[in-house]
Formats: sequence, structure tokens, C-alpha cells
Amino acid sequence: MAVSDYTGQAALTAVDLVNSLDVIIGTDRLRTPEDAAGILTRHGWDVGRAVSAADLERLRQLRPRLRFVFGGTPVHKSVADLNALLRDLRAQPHLTDHDGAWHWHYARPRAPLGERVATSCVVALLTAIADGGAGRLRICEGADCANVFVDASRPGLRRYCDTRSCGNRAHVTAYRERKRTERTG
Ligand SMILES: [Zn+2]
Ligand SMILES: [Zn+2]
Repeated sequence: MAVSDYTGQAALTAVDLVNSLDVIIGTDRLRTPEDAAGILTRHGWDVGRAVSAADLERLRQLRPRLRFVFGGTPVHKSVADLNALLRDLRAQPHLTDHDGAWHWHYARPRAPLGERVATSCVVALLTAIADGGAGRLRICEGADCANVFVDASRPGLRRYCDTRSCGNRAHVTAYRERKRTERTG
């Protein structure tokens, strides 16, 4: 899994894991090993045999720690927390060519899946902060939406997540609001 930039699959994995728990209405889409496998496969992880209960638990526990760094948390707090997470995960960056091309691995060699995913997610978010600034780690401004996203657009002005088409809905609401005031005003 390459973590070369913050548009990469590791950053998207982090975002998807965080958003699997809807903190407004409480629905949780990461409750079974199959849920975890679904999210990971979507982002190119070779899940291998089944996701274990320990892997699932690791990823569930990771979610609040990752969410913490989105939405305007002071950057030094975010970085300190992510660095501490890397320490807890006993990260051990090393270069490998196990698949024929040299690339970084961040977790201990032969670390279980949950640990490898967690480590890559943390490195991706730290890379996002280093490359684009902590302001790139945002929370959607859509009504009733608290999804997180990494703004990888060039101008860096994205306001909405793209998983629930919140941006479109906001436009429709603003349009209706304008119409209403035109009629009454
Ligand atoms: Zn690899
Ligand atoms: Zn949203």
C-alpha cells in the first residue's frame, strides 16, 4: 500500500473508516469482519483470509482517534496525537520489494492486517498535514452530515463530502430559499 500523497488510497481508507460511524444519528457500518473487508477491499487492500475479530476491534478503536484530527483541531494537538498513535502501533518504516517494486511499509513486518491498515491511515493523515496543512482535514458542512474528508483539490476550498451529495443538496436548499424570499420580499 503506497502512501505517497494524501489523495491516495490510505487517506481514503482513513476517511471511510471514520465515516463508517455516523456520529449524528449513530448508525455504525463497521460492526462485522465483513463490513471491514468491504471498506478495505474498496481501497485496494489485499484482505487475504477473513478479517479477524482483533483486526475489526483495532479499526473500530481507531475511528475516534482519526476523527479527532478533522475539522479544525489545533495542528500541534493533531500531530502529537497521530505521532503517539504511531508509537502505540509500534510502527517500523521499512522499504520492501515483496511485490516486485520498491515501496514503503510502515507497520512491523508481518503485523496483522488491522495494525497495517491503522499504521498506513495514520501515516497518510500525517502526510496530508505535512503536504497540505491541517486545514485540508475537514468536516462536511452539509446539514445533518458530519462526514470527514481530505480536501485534495488544488484551491483547497471544498466544503462538502462527496459520499452523500451534500453539496448538491445545499445548492437546492439555497435555491429554494432564494425563490421564497423573492416571492415574499
Ligand atoms: Zn507492499
Ligand atoms: Zn456530507
